[in-house]
Amino acid sequence: MELKDKIYKLKGKVQNYAWGGYDFIPSLIGFTNTEHKPCAEYWMGAHPSASSDLMIDNRPVSLNRLILRNHAETITDKVFQQFGELPYLLKILDVKDMLSIQVHPSKAEAIKGFDAEEAAGIPINAPHRNYKDKNHKPEVMVALSEFWLLHGFKQEAALERVLEDVQEFNILLPLYKREGLKALYQFVMEMKQEDIDALLFNLVKRELRRKENNELTKDQPGWWVAKLFEGKDEIKNIDRGIFSIYFFNIVKAEKGEAVFQGAGIPHAYLEGQNVELMANSDNVLRGGLTPKHIDVPELMKHTSFVGITPVRCYQIEYTDCLPQSG
Ligand SMILES: [Zn+2]
Repeated sequence: MELKDKIYKLKGKVQNYAWGGYDFIPSLIGFTNTEHKPCAEYWMGAHPSASSDLMIDNRPVSLNRLILRNHAETITDKVFQQFGELPYLLKILDVKDMLSIQVHPSKAEAIKGFDAEEAAGIPINAPHRNYKDKNHKPEVMVALSEFWLLHGFKQEAALERVLEDVQEFNILLPLYKREGLKALYQFVMEMKQEDIDALLFNLVKRELRRKENNELTKDQPGWWVAKLFEGKDEIKNIDRGIFSIYFFNIVKAEKGEAVFQGAGIPHAYLEGQNVELMANSDNVLRGGLTPKHIDVPELMKHTSFVGITPVRCYQIEYTDCLPQSG
């Protein structure tokens, strides 16, 4: 097949994760969501678990398979020799409900983790598999709407203020002052569920009441905690990810602003739409707020326990590629 110097239509894959919205991605790429499924992500790339298709003579051909069969004419020999695949993955995300607290490994750690899980015989699609490939997953996102996310630990003074101001966290302050951030995070991430429920019950109740009384805004952790519990019959089995909502920076990215997440920066998307470019990887170590597999020891191993001040950068022109309203 002669591919060179031709342009083909690329058809991405929609991922129907439960946290996704229903309308943004269908209207962006032009289909009707007749089954009313959540459309969380639209992947454009050649990741083996959801490769895009190239439309050749009106027939879909897997980009992943095409690259493996004919790398010279698709990604070039040079790129293939260095990466062995298309080295990046582009996604559109529509975040309706908060995503999991997560960290991505470095390239070296991803290779180690992948090889160890292969050696242990864990099937690649097993729910408890951490490493789906040998890649790191540095992510750069550009907001397509007002976009909210959790990004890295708060700086020392700000975190200390949280532990002082939120009365339920007061008991954690001596540990933090004595042993630092990692010990604090380890402690809350390893707490027994019944202790978490006992510690956070009143906090959740208070935040729900404050949100109902319009006393909270999205730059406050309580707003997101209340959103998690709104409409629920009872407050129990409280997710340990809630600690992260208070301990991490809450970032608002305006339309067109970019945020970069490197290896080890703990983060979670809260709400909004964005476009994300990353290495061709699905390696995610999760620490809460998800029905998916959570592996706290693995998360702890790869997390950077340093307070940061988030950076948002670039204002770019993007409006031309958004669906027009009306
Ligand atoms: Zn991520």
